[in-house]
Amino acid sequence: MSALLFRSTNGQSPAVNLREALLAGQAPDRGLYFPEKFPRLTPDDIAAFAQLPYREVAFRVLRKFTKGIISDDALTAMCRKAYDFGVPVEVIHHHVYLMRLDQGPTASFKDFAAQMMAQMFGRFLQQDGQQVTVLTATSGDTGAAVAHAFHKVPGVRVIVLFPIGEVSLSQRKLMTSLKDNIRTVAIDGKFDDCQAMVKRAFADPALNHIKLSSANSINIGRLLPQSVYYFYAASRVAQPGEPVVFSVPSGNFGNMMGAVVAREMGLPVKKIIAPVNDNDAFPKFLASGVYQKISPSRNSVSNAMNVGHPSNLARLVAVYGGQMDETGKIHQQPDLAAIRRDIFSSSISDDRTRASLRDFWNKYQILLEPHGVVAWQGFLDWLAVEPLGSSPAVIVETANPAKFPEEVEKVVGWPPDVPAAMTAAIALPEDFDRMDADYEKFKAYLLTKHV
Ligand SMILES: *Cc1c(COP(=O)(O)O)cnc(C)c1O
Repeated sequence: MSALLFRSTNGQSPAVNLREALLAGQAPDRGLYFPEKFPRLTPDDIAAFAQLPYREVAFRVLRKFTKGIISDDALTAMCRKAYDFGVPVEVIHHHVYLMRLDQGPTASFKDFAAQMMAQMFGRFLQQDGQQVTVLTATSGDTGAAVAHAFHKVPGVRVIVLFPIGEVSLSQRKLMTSLKDNIRTVAIDGKFDDCQAMVKRAFADPALNHIKLSSANSINIGRLLPQSVYYFYAASRVAQPGEPVVFSVPSGNFGNMMGAVVAREMGLPVKKIIAPVNDNDAFPKFLASGVYQKISPSRNSVSNAMNVGHPSNLARLVAVYGGQMDETGKIHQQPDLAAIRRDIFSSSISDDRTRASLRDFWNKYQILLEPHGVVAWQGFLDWLAVEPLGSSPAVIVETANPAKFPEEVEKVVGWPPDVPAAMTAAIALPEDFDRMDADYEKFKAYLLTKHV
């Protein structure tokens, strides 16, 4: 059985299979890996999802990518281990729904990808006894999800860099209370500094002997599992074949690319709404065709979306026949008219985010948090220009309100309930290292901690 191949968005590196793409993280030419050709599910395959639990939908979607690389039995077991939590899809009103992706061990949607990715790493490394170091820069949620997912996975050492002043206490404790193979480093700097240090480490030939990999959303292993919940949601809210509208709050555009992948695999999608916070490079690009990254990135209440240059745009541009390199330079313009037909985006300021959080609570008595409400407000912005008709719409909530207690309390007057998994992590003692935003120091750290 021949395995699916993944090519680089920069077009210079050879195509590789899933195993190589996952372990490398980034392609040698600094592009992002992407399927050479999308595997398809038939309308009957998709219609069958309506009767299936989440882990089984995950198996049927992901096996299209793992064919020839991971056996069906192994993949079934991996899906069972990765997805032992709920995926509620609730009614907001009429045929408008809220999908909560916040029930995993660290209460953000990042758990969906991190859990499966850790299963895959564990399996590939066990097969040939390799050791890798997974480097991750985080503004909060990725680090927690990756640390939990990779905790005690044999063959993997994880190093998480986070900006000391930009991560909430509960976000921090979810990563620093694990030990064993997980190291967390607080950087005296911004998220951009953490990201730059990680990128330099990848490009540093003096570190070649340490097998470095990335768990950031440049890794194809992050992206593929994020296509599953769009199939799942559609199976719960739509008739077979009926197109769905999805609204996905976007920062690095990995989550919304999951919806694009699902559509390319055959899921009927009417529109993908990808609203952002003040980091509005994407809606400006949609409007003008000119891409200009935002540097430094702008801070906002939806802090997990403070991304000035979303790396997954290179993949989006590739789907529409264009080419964007890792710096954001466009070498070939994608089919902009087609992107505009399929995707809508608007920028939601902090003022609108807070007002919308309050309005939503007052109107529906459902609690959101600053990221999910960006999806809601973006959906309202879209409704102002295009009719929903009778189509079902799914708003994606990406974190638990308990991760943002201050913002939520300001709106409803009391602190949100804290999920049990978070309470447990918060009670444990922390352990992390601290460092200046200085690459040479970080390099020395990597070299000494490696042995
Ligand atoms: C990471 C994150 C996002 C943004 O997701 P992208 O895939 O980077 O677009 C949105 N909400 C929350 C809570 C997050 O943690």
